[in-house]
Amino acid sequence: MLKENLKKVESNVQTACEKSNRDRNEVTLIAVSKTKPVEMLQEIYDAGVRDFGENKVQEIMEKYDRLPYDIKWHMIGHLQRNKVKYIIDKVCMIHSVDSLRLAEEISRQAVSHQLEMPILVEVNIAGEESKFGVRLEAAVQLVEEIAKLPNLNIRGLMTIAPYVDRPEDNREHFRHLRQLAVDINHKNIDNVSMGVLSMGMTGDYMVAIEEGATMVRVGTGIFGIRNYSQKL
Ligand SMILES: *Cc1c(COP(=O)(O)O)cnc(C)c1O
Repeated sequence: MLKENLKKVESNVQTACEKSNRDRNEVTLIAVSKTKPVEMLQEIYDAGVRDFGENKVQEIMEKYDRLPYDIKWHMIGHLQRNKVKYIIDKVCMIHSVDSLRLAEEISRQAVSHQLEMPILVEVNIAGEESKFGVRLEAAVQLVEEIAKLPNLNIRGLMTIAPYVDRPEDNREHFRHLRQLAVDINHKNIDNVSMGVLSMGMTGDYMVAIEEGATMVRVGTGIFGIRNYSQKL
């Protein structure tokens, strides 16, 4: 069943790429596996997926040793500073950097582990009260400040768009995130590239791809609805 879900998502990704004249290789499908047991992740791994997204430090740590080591783990959830040390050497990218203080801690841990950490700056693109992420107006300044820190590479931007019934309603938000990335790129800030746009989830990833997403984060569409009391 999971394999069929994956096939369907994969074919939608392909369709969205064709519709917008993009190469399928420009878009990374991240399977968002939070709350799902390792057996399900293994099934999706066996079907060829290598990029997995999780939003809790604890869950990454529990799953990390029980699954193949060539998995690329993406930290996509709100990250507390005191937990950075647990995942610094386990994840390939942190999508959810939205403050200078968090970036400083990631930088500190990256230095002490002698690694370079790719990060994305999370933008609250619709200015929703309930969401994490830096406000659009403050994003450029935050990027400029983070760019000065050692052992961090800002690779682009991430956003969690509003929950909507019609994916089309999020098109303008995706457009704004892309425009922000273009504006930041024009500033030619050292250590900053804007090649990655992490946007689009189960409800709206096709629209996000049409608007330039290079990473889409799909959970429900692959693994089914989440039950938060499930055992890992
Ligand atoms: C849970 C989650 C997703 C996936 O959501 P679905 O709607 O299930 O695809 C994507 N991004 C983030 C940051 C999430 O926390």
